[in-house]
Amino acid sequence: MKLHEHQSKEIFARYGIPTPKGKVAYDAESAREIAKELGRPVVVKAQVLVGGRGKAGGVKLAASPDQAEQYAEEILGMNIKGLPVRKVLIDPAVPNKAEVYLGIVVDRTKGAPVMMASSAGGMEIEEVARVSPEKIMRQTIDPVLGLQPFEARELGYGIGLDKKLVPEFAKIALALYRVFADTDASLVEINPLFISKEDKLIAADGKLVLDDSALDRHHDLEMLRDADEENEAEREARRAGLSFVKLEGNIGCMVNGAGLAMATMDVIKFYGGEPANFLDIGGGAKAEKVAAALRIILSDPNVKAVLLNIFGGITRGDEVARGIVEALNQVKTDVPMVARIVGTNAEEGRRILANANLRTAPSLEEGAKMAVEIAKSR
Ligand code: GDP
Ligand code: MN
Repeated sequence: MKLHEHQSKEIFARYGIPTPKGKVAYDAESAREIAKELGRPVVVKAQVLVGGRGKAGGVKLAASPDQAEQYAEEILGMNIKGLPVRKVLIDPAVPNKAEVYLGIVVDRTKGAPVMMASSAGGMEIEEVARVSPEKIMRQTIDPVLGLQPFEARELGYGIGLDKKLVPEFAKIALALYRVFADTDASLVEINPLFISKEDKLIAADGKLVLDDSALDRHHDLEMLRDADEENEAEREARRAGLSFVKLEGNIGCMVNGAGLAMATMDVIKFYGGEPANFLDIGGGAKAEKVAAALRIILSDPNVKAVLLNIFGGITRGDEVARGIVEALNQVKTDVPMVARIVGTNAEEGRRILANANLRTAPSLEEGAKMAVEIAKSR
């Protein structure tokens, strides 16, 4: 779950990270009021859950309350990367002389968080990694010990900060790690961290992505969820308790078990196809759940074929097969389906599906090949 910039910066501030003291406006009139209150030039910033707002024209410097109103009017009517702008943050503008990047992500190969810092702040870090990877300094963080002060200072020196700024930088880095750990984040980012004209460090932007699996421990944060973050399919999946990720291909996948779902996508790709989604229906796989999964898959107009890959374990194959048949009665479609069932009561399951005129495949390889051919021919 992603948090908005203003929400992220409010959390940063609680941890002692310096942030501009701005306010959110939902209309141009209030934007003007806030700018007047602040009594100096402001930045008007679109609050949408995507990066690159600056480039898209969603961040504008306003010299007067009049101008703040005018920019707010413009930005509030915008659509950035498909997301409508419903609110703007009015921050006091900070005259700056440099922009630094500071962020933490989970490094899955190392099994630990890694802090990254760069003197090339402001632009997206992926871009820095592509053009000048030598400008990114990394520090792996021991998850037991946490980030150590000397490690934070090393990063500061590593990106070439002026010596007198390093203690403040280290303080911010340590605070940012506490934010990351306390909120169970999967990503936290300050980009840019400004070096102001007066040589102060200040977080001009903020980004916090929380681990959905940990939200049960953070009901206060969960309440900040922005409905616009998810599309209709993702929302229905979350409500039905399905793990779903939309992808760009044309073969819908319905699988029980996350590992099996990954393997299924691999095999589809191996035979030259492109999966349209990752979907794990989980255990149980009752008809309503299967129906919800089918509805979600078929709501994607790109889907030309569906591959059902079921492993009958504790949930028996015949049970799942009945669920599928029932679901197909609820969700009418002419998209061809291929089913592969193995494990407990697979025979019975296959019979049920064949009786319902579903194509069944003897193996995953065969099933994937069939789905790929069908998708190509339509
Ligand atoms: P993003 O493009 O979505 O990451 O939005 P940012 O909040 O990072 O803003 C983009 C750019 O706008 C920054 O890199 C800065 O160059 C500029 N910017 C943002 N806030 C201020 C500010 O207070 N003063 C000045 N001078 N520039 C700002
Ligand atoms: Mn930014």
